[in-house]
This record gives sequence, structure tokens and C-alpha cells, in this order.
Amino acid sequence: MDSVTIDLARAWMRAAAESMDEHAEELTRLDAAIGDGDHGSNMRRGFSAVAGKLADTDFPSVGSVLTLSGRTLISTVGGASGPLYGTVLRSAGKRLTGSTASPGELLDALRDGMEAVRGLGGAQVRDKTMVDALAPALAAYSAALEDGADLGAAVGAAARAAGEGAQATVPMTARKGRASYLGERSRGHQDPGAASTALLFAALASVVGA
Ligand code: ADP
Ligand code: MG
Ligand code: MG
Repeated sequence: MDSVTIDLARAWMRAAAESMDEHAEELTRLDAAIGDGDHGSNMRRGFSAVAGKLADTDFPSVGSVLTLSGRTLISTVGGASGPLYGTVLRSAGKRLTGSTASPGELLDALRDGMEAVRGLGGAQVRDKTMVDALAPALAAYSAALEDGADLGAAVGAAARAAGEGAQATVPMTARKGRASYLGERSRGHQDPGAASTALLFAALASVVGA
């Protein structure tokens, strides 16, 4: 498989919903240590609403799957992560107007998503947020494509880098979001949003067959 289809995009969002549901307790535990302990329930509620919408909608383009998913997260998740994830998916969706997208087009779309979330939340790399999983994932995806990797290999590399990026947030001091209220005391804990971003990329890898 070397292009992203509408069905693949739907399968990605459904797999993300399953994964957020499965890992909700773990995400909540991470958020309880440095936030307010709702990240797992936020992700579970948001993505379960996304899965519901996907089931009864016909989509004209790859992007429309992501855009509707993003809008649904914004309207169903009260926490910071709803608007943040919603912005990533909505911005990524805008560019993908065809019924298929190439691996490079998906990269450009996800980069738009990352730029949009950085614009919204003002987070830099190393601020201990979801950006610390997103940025290395997209860098690895891009490097893999430059090396001639196909979609599966590039997405696999992105998922591994997102997981490593999430792990690498443990020693960081949070400078954005609720965890930043703790200052230095946020060190020693993984950022929950970086952890859920790693799950999002793992879900993509699982449906691409990476
Ligand atoms: P809330 O903090 O409102 O309870 P969640 O617990 O669902 O929302 O999400 C917290 C996650 O959101 C953090 O772990 C972090 O990854 C992400 N986050 C918070 N603020 C920002 C920001 N300004 N930029 C990027 N990500 C952020
Ligand atoms: Mg929270
Ligand atoms: Mg909250």
C-alpha cells in the first residue's frame, strides 16, 4: 500500500479510538501526576465520539475524515487537549482534498497540523507537551521518505520516534499547560499528551501494516 485512502483514514481514527479507550487509565495516571488526572477520560470521550461520527458519515476526501474528527474532538473534549488535537487534525485535513493522498502529502498535512497547534498553544520543542512526540515523529517520517521508504516503513519510523519522544519528556520541566504550574516538580513524569500522541502514531502504523 503506498497511498492514504479515505478508508485508511477512517481505520486510523477508529484504531485511535480503540487505543485511547484501552490506554485511558494509563493516560489518566500520567495526568494525575502532573496535571488534573483527566487526560485518559478526555481522550476516551473525544475519540469515542469520533468513532461514532465516522460510522454514519460518507466522506468525499481523506482530509474530510480528519477535519470532522478534529471538529468532533473540539466539541466533545472540555480539556486543553480537545482544541489542541482538534486543531492538529482539522489543519491536517484541509490540505488533503483528494480521495487518496501520497505519503509526502500526508507529511505536509501533518506538518500543517503541528504548525497550527504550535500557533495555538505556543509550545516549543522541549516544553514537555504533545509537540515533543509530534515533532520527532514528523522528522523521522520525513527522513524515511527521503531515504526512499514506502508509507508503511515511514509511518513505522514515525511511530517509533513518537514513542521515544514521549519517553524523552520524562526529565523535562513543563513550560506549557497545567503541568507548568508545577515547575521543576513536573520532572520525572512523562507528559500525558506526548504519550497519547505516541498512541495516535502507533494506531496509524497498525492500520498501515507497519
Ligand atoms: P487539561 O490540561 O485541560 O486537563 P488534558 O489533560 O486532556 O487537558 O491534556 C493535557 C495535555 O495537553 C498535556 O499533557 C500536553 O501534552 C498538552 N498541552 C497542554 N498545553 C499545551 C500547549 N500549550 N501546547 C501543546 N500541548 C499542550
Ligand atoms: Mg488534564
Ligand atoms: Mg482538565
